[in-house]
Amino acid sequence: MSGFTIIRIAVLLGILIIVGFTSAHQREYTRNWNQPLSTIIYPINADGRASTNKYIASLSQKNFASINQWGKREAARYDLDLSTPFNVILGEQINGLPPAWPENQNALTILLWGLRFRWWAYQNTPNSHKDITQVRMFVIYHEATEGKVLAHSLGMQKGLMGLVNAFADHRNNSQNNIVIAHELLHTVGAKDKYTPNGQPVYPDGYANSSRQPRHPQRYAEVMAGRIPLSPNRFIMADSLRTVQINSRTAKEINWIQ
Ligand SMILES: [Zn+2]
Repeated sequence: MSGFTIIRIAVLLGILIIVGFTSAHQREYTRNWNQPLSTIIYPINADGRASTNKYIASLSQKNFASINQWGKREAARYDLDLSTPFNVILGEQINGLPPAWPENQNALTILLWGLRFRWWAYQNTPNSHKDITQVRMFVIYHEATEGKVLAHSLGMQKGLMGLVNAFADHRNNSQNNIVIAHELLHTVGAKDKYTPNGQPVYPDGYANSSRQPRHPQRYAEVMAGRIPLSPNRFIMADSLRTVQINSRTAKEINWIQ
């Protein structure tokens, strides 16, 4: 092994150790629910269109307020000591896109993508928001086109970061907020509760799995995202008004034991 290779491996190991310690601290701090989980939304223009920029420029704090209100409502249902668990605020627009999701997905490419994404976020997040106990939610806005399918969104507990693909149309704001809430909960440990075709898993993906009769459900569970109407029919919730956190997810995010 050449000296250069040894130095490269040492640097990579050093980065992984720092990342590991930071993650442990973040995990502890964000899941004790002693203070609202501060979350900054960073809008990104995916397609460079003027209409998308116009939409981003028209966004304000109130477009995300329903996430904070939803957090209050759900926290109250679980008697959480903290009345306002989430504090989602709008940050500055970011130019440039995060590294593309690897085409060949295996443990190594995903690990490397995660490190590149964290490095990209570190370089692109304005200084005032570099606090490591804040969640950084990068929302990539695309022109809303009929029938267009958006790339998957994701939320990472390690690094407290999320990537949300959303439509740049105010008619989509309520559903965009459901996706943001879903990814936000991933950053504090919640797991997905739907099958690859989007069907909520019974019972974990049901807001009220003991409801009689079981169908139709009135609410979507946030980590499933869809309201089960019958065993094989499920629809997207319109807004967070019809989305709940069930006890399974509440355990995962450390709201209950
Ligand atoms: Zn998810």
